[in-house]
Amino acid sequence: MKAIRVHTPGGPEALSLDTIDVPVAGPGQALVKLHNSGVNFIDIYFRTGLYKADPPFSIGMEGAGVVEAVGDGVTEVAKGDRVAYAMARGSYAEFAVVPAWQLVKIPAGVDFPTAAAAMLQGMTAHYLTHSTWPLRMGETCLVHAAAGGTGQLIVQMAKMLGAHVIGTCGTAIKAETARQAGADDVIVYTEQDFAAEVKRITNGKGVDVVYDSVGASTFEKSLDSLRPRGLMVSFGNASGPVPPVSPLTLNAKGSLFLTRPTLAHHASTRDELLWRASDVLGWIAAGKLKLQIEQTYPLADAAQAQVDLASRKTSGKLLLDTAASA
Ligand code: NDP
Repeated sequence: MKAIRVHTPGGPEALSLDTIDVPVAGPGQALVKLHNSGVNFIDIYFRTGLYKADPPFSIGMEGAGVVEAVGDGVTEVAKGDRVAYAMARGSYAEFAVVPAWQLVKIPAGVDFPTAAAAMLQGMTAHYLTHSTWPLRMGETCLVHAAAGGTGQLIVQMAKMLGAHVIGTCGTAIKAETARQAGADDVIVYTEQDFAAEVKRITNGKGVDVVYDSVGASTFEKSLDSLRPRGLMVSFGNASGPVPPVSPLTLNAKGSLFLTRPTLAHHASTRDELLWRASDVLGWIAAGKLKLQIEQTYPLADAAQAQVDLASRKTSGKLLLDTAASA
């Protein structure tokens, strides 16, 4: 089969289209014939070496397809099931072996591209808005990169929960996308001081919670956008990792709370995974949650997909077509 692997971490050229054996499902695992793989920032972090794996390693953390075979003891899925998953590495490939407990069945009416696009960013938006800071009616949140893949989903879920949403984004066109996702106020943070704007919009109070995936370039001003005892959720590094922070900074800026969560710790049991995935896929099937799939690339063009994701030019989701590469 064809699979994208990294032999030496580095730039986009580190992604190598290799021909390797189709893997075999061991006990508790399922072999999935993939139709689509999601492209996510975490794939870039593995490619560059910010996140570590032993080379040569497979890449891609999200996919949708059909169960081809199951290993001993698998009860969650059966051959022929349409399934999707996130947070098991190796989805930039024609086949992947995935722990069966991480697979969810795709509801009728949801196609493979949509399911592949929904899992990682959708469950992330779910845990951020329902668990990290369970948003309540009338609370105000700040969502950075609100026109991005994860950002648009956070905005929509925050609105479902009755929050007031302030979004940020890089261009006026993206601002329109963020508004269409439901943001009440949008700040173009490449042109405006977003902390000052947040203070103006909230009458000097600050927001209850900041969902910050941008990282290095927004961290400090995100703290300045919070109300006293508000929560800073730093959940990504799109502009680079956040440098070390002194706890005294949190004191000086208003007895703030700071967390750095990841999806892996918020879908770590079968029950929790099914809760989040069935909410996300169910809302999509019911038309309550909209996904914007920006572009689908052939598997061989995975490097270009990653370049585009990192370029700040995209809104919504990027996918690989893993079925057409055979
Ligand atoms: P996006 O579609 O949001 O793309 C990233 C966006 O970040 C860009 O479009 C851009 O939007 C903004 N950005 C700001 N500064 C930069 C910069 N210097 N370089 C690149 N982008 C920049 O991507 P995803 O939705 O896939 O991921 C967003 C973030 O969420 C990533 O950091 C990712 O690691 C994180 N994440 C974390 C998870 C977790 O559990 N912790 C899980 C899933 C995602 P604009 O032009 O509007 O500023």
